[in-house]
Amino acid sequence: MNFKTLDDADLAGKRVLVRVDLNVPMEDGKVTDATRIDRVLPTIREIAEKGGKVVLLAHFGRPKGRDAKDSLKPVAVALAHALEKPVIFVEDCIGDDAAKAVAAAKNGEVLLLENTRFHAGDEKNDPAFVQALAANGDLYVNDAFSAAHRAHASTEGLAHVLPAYAGRSMQAELEALSAGLDNPARPVMAIVGGAKVSTKLDLLGNLVKKVDVLAIGGGMANTFLAARGVDVGKSLCEHDLVATAREIEEKAKAAGCEIILPVDALVAREFKAHPGHRVVTIDDVAADEMILDAGSLSVAEVVLKLDHVKTLVWNGPFGAFELPPFDTATVTVAKAAAQRVKDGTLVAIAGGGDTVAAMNHAGIADDLTYVSTAGGAFLEWMEGKPLPGVEALRKG
Ligand code: AMP
Repeated sequence: MNFKTLDDADLAGKRVLVRVDLNVPMEDGKVTDATRIDRVLPTIREIAEKGGKVVLLAHFGRPKGRDAKDSLKPVAVALAHALEKPVIFVEDCIGDDAAKAVAAAKNGEVLLLENTRFHAGDEKNDPAFVQALAANGDLYVNDAFSAAHRAHASTEGLAHVLPAYAGRSMQAELEALSAGLDNPARPVMAIVGGAKVSTKLDLLGNLVKKVDVLAIGGGMANTFLAARGVDVGKSLCEHDLVATAREIEEKAKAAGCEIILPVDALVAREFKAHPGHRVVTIDDVAADEMILDAGSLSVAEVVLKLDHVKTLVWNGPFGAFELPPFDTATVTVAKAAAQRVKDGTLVAIAGGGDTVAAMNHAGIADDLTYVSTAGGAFLEWMEGKPLPGVEALRKG
């Protein structure tokens, strides 16, 4: 990997500005899911143990200027709890208060500075704001992959003015993603599901060039089926994108990528849990029925293909997995992938908001090689786009 990690940094006695993702869900002032906090603990602990002052920078919510409801103060409490050591909270991320607090802190102590987005300069990547942040650091560590698709002062600008390193969570994410698409063991299979083709056009366009097999599932498969002349009844289907789906199929053919579509489905008349369903071959969907999950023949085909690949990259469920029994295909394929990973014969990487929920629902999120909780950044990576926060670390 052509970026520096904590292994390359001399941390002792240094003020280390660490960009983390602490944009955690909160209710009534309490953190309801600490996954993002847990992910950055190794980096914080390592810098503290090596004698650096840990100066944390993070955004929270989408404030327009200073707004108490988007303060990171309650997050500092949750972070201290997770770290099992005090976290000094500072009411501003720049200026005298921040400078005094950082100067007063001892080596090995942890400070969390207030929401960087209380200043418009963060999202604008304003050079003056970058300098104001940089005034409190000797080194910059970026541990927020999930914010790396944004070229903001705290995610990108700082890497140009301070010696810059990837934190452990960023490093793990980049290594996993590299093993997924940049440098994968072949053959590589991608599974792309979810609701709509329209949100994943760039992603599909990139994948057909890079993978050997592409299994398309979920509502978006219906548009591809319609493009092949299948009557999908009342299913979610973007009929205006049928020509685009054909173009993607053509691109795949030219690139030698095999596309797999469902050959059977679970269909129902209502979009709800246990609505009463039929299992049909794909050309037997009635005019008033919706395809809500892939059928067992389709699942068997995907699992069989999975047996012949060495790498899997997955975004999007095969069906409306929130509504049983339409979680069946997603859960079955997820379990098959997890077993192969356990056997040591598959590298499996999954990511994107609903996909993480689907893997958790299948109970195998911890059994895959890597599950990325970075929504937008993971999708942009799957689209093959350079991520500014990562590119800025690659300067050698
Ligand atoms: P996405 O955010 O694009 O990954 O889409 C995820 C959503 O797609 C989930 O909420 C699923 O319920 C939904 N979905 C998957 N398959 C279908 C389908 N056949 N019909 C309607 N919605 C679906």
